[in-house]
Amino acid sequence: MAPLISSPTTGVIITGGGSGIGLASARALAEAGRPVALWDLDTESVQKHADEIASEFGVASIGEGLDVSKSALYEPAIKRARSELGSLGGLVHCAGVAHPVPVDHLDEENWDAVLDINLRAEALLVRDLLPDLCQNEGSAVVGIASINAILGNGANPAYGASKAGLLGLTRSLAARLAPEGVRVNAICPGYVDTPMLAPAFEHVPGLRESMESQSMLGRLSRPEEIARVVRFLLSNEASFITAEHIVVDGGVVRAQA
Ligand code: NAD
Repeated sequence: MAPLISSPTTGVIITGGGSGIGLASARALAEAGRPVALWDLDTESVQKHADEIASEFGVASIGEGLDVSKSALYEPAIKRARSELGSLGGLVHCAGVAHPVPVDHLDEENWDAVLDINLRAEALLVRDLLPDLCQNEGSAVVGIASINAILGNGANPAYGASKAGLLGLTRSLAARLAPEGVRVNAICPGYVDTPMLAPAFEHVPGLRESMESQSMLGRLSRPEEIARVVRFLLSNEASFITAEHIVVDGGVVRAQA
């Protein structure tokens, strides 16, 4: 087999890096030698995990407590990441909320909150990171969408729309950034065992088992199984993949086809 293609060593910003898929992605990237900036609402968690990553993997790692729906906060945080990580050549937009409200009770506040965090933040972050992404060879962006982008979500239209929108945004950003050598992709996870699902498991008896049985593999995904695909898409191993989404769901979508 051909040797692995050498990959960029530039820093990566991971939104939602304080928990679940974002934290697992930060760890996977750090393991591959990438400096990481973990951004999350939960300042305490993100700083603790950033310190652990720095000592475990020996890379620069910083934690930034920040609300990604407030784009005025990006610039100082990017400045800090650029200076402490050396350079920036990657973005993983993983921060996300479900806030399930069916269409019967939908209001503007719910819609805006979900769309601003899950979707708008990636567009505005790429806007502010453009100079770094374009300057550094091998730069790439990964957005964490969901199988809800494909299947919809009858109980949560704002979430389904935000994730479907992320696939459209991915293709639009990819078209704009391809001439600059920057790739943009998305991942559609199925059901992943993270704190996001915990409240639903608590309130809906049998939900966990139902989700497990929807997967051909008969179980939920571990966050690390999504993180490995994030790491792949940010590496030069994925040098000819752009404007694409990869479904990582243990066969949930195909089982319904
Ligand atoms: P999680 O709750 O463990 O992590 C989400 C993180 O995002 C949390 O640390 C939270 O504090 C952070 N966050 C939320 N709002 C934020 C804001 N405004 N600013 C900054 N940070 C904010 O959940 P997870 O499962 O790891 O979710 C990560 C992503 O994966 C989300 O976008 C989610 O929609 C997506 N996803 C999850 C699943 C699943 O089954 N868990 C399935 C498909 C897609």
